[in-house]
Amino acid sequence: MNIDQSKIPQATAKRLPLYYRFLKNLHASGKQRVSSAELSDAVKVGSATIRRDFSYFGALGKKGYGYNVDYLLTFFRKTLDQDEMTNVMLIGVGNLGTAFLHYNFIKNNNTKISMAFDVNESKIGSEIGGVPVYDLDKLEEHVQEVGDIPVAILTVPAVAAQSITDRLIALGIKGILNFTPARLNVPEHIRIHHIDLAVELQSLVYFLKHYSVTQED
Ligand code: ATP
Repeated sequence: MNIDQSKIPQATAKRLPLYYRFLKNLHASGKQRVSSAELSDAVKVGSATIRRDFSYFGALGKKGYGYNVDYLLTFFRKTLDQDEMTNVMLIGVGNLGTAFLHYNFIKNNNTKISMAFDVNESKIGSEIGGVPVYDLDKLEEHVQEVGDIPVAILTVPAVAAQSITDRLIALGIKGILNFTPARLNVPEHIRIHHIDLAVELQSLVYFLKHYSVTQED
């Protein structure tokens, strides 16, 4: 299975964790094959989209048989680097940040928040969900101790986001999951995923009011 991952479209790549989670459950329940219709129903992505996505992975479903669950799982595990633990840091231990620390992401895949930072004295030195909270002033020190933390989650007030981002870039960060409404300026090689929960919620309500809901993405 030799697939050039740079050829996989970004929209497809974003759906990979969704497929992966569902296939893991299927595998755990002993299923060996799955049809695109079943998948579509479970992950709420149109079956035409699923077939197109899977063709990028070299997985060609057979009519009347569907897809081989083991083959797909092996592919996803490799593609999503699930064999390797990825360390993540979280900056801003407010309501949202605290929820993430409790949730951590270890149940779904091999990413783990290994340290958190804040400026609030009452939070510094504590441990939330097993994750130590450090003083943001000592960001560089702590990150350099661990060596490899390629991803940061930003849950700080918007005004603080850019200056923290600049420090993260200087530390060699590769990706940022930005929960602040701030639009961040970063060099091209840094990947930012921006999640504005308020905007998402508003747009959901807007769509419910103005459009009929369809399953196709
Ligand atoms: P949330 O938006 O996560 O629900 P909140 O309403 O509890 O947060 P915010 O004021 O948004 O609180 O702050 C989020 C967290 O970021 C707080 O723990 C706060 O101490 C921290 N914080 C504030 N300013 C900075 C900064 N400059 N650098 C790092 N952390 C900061």
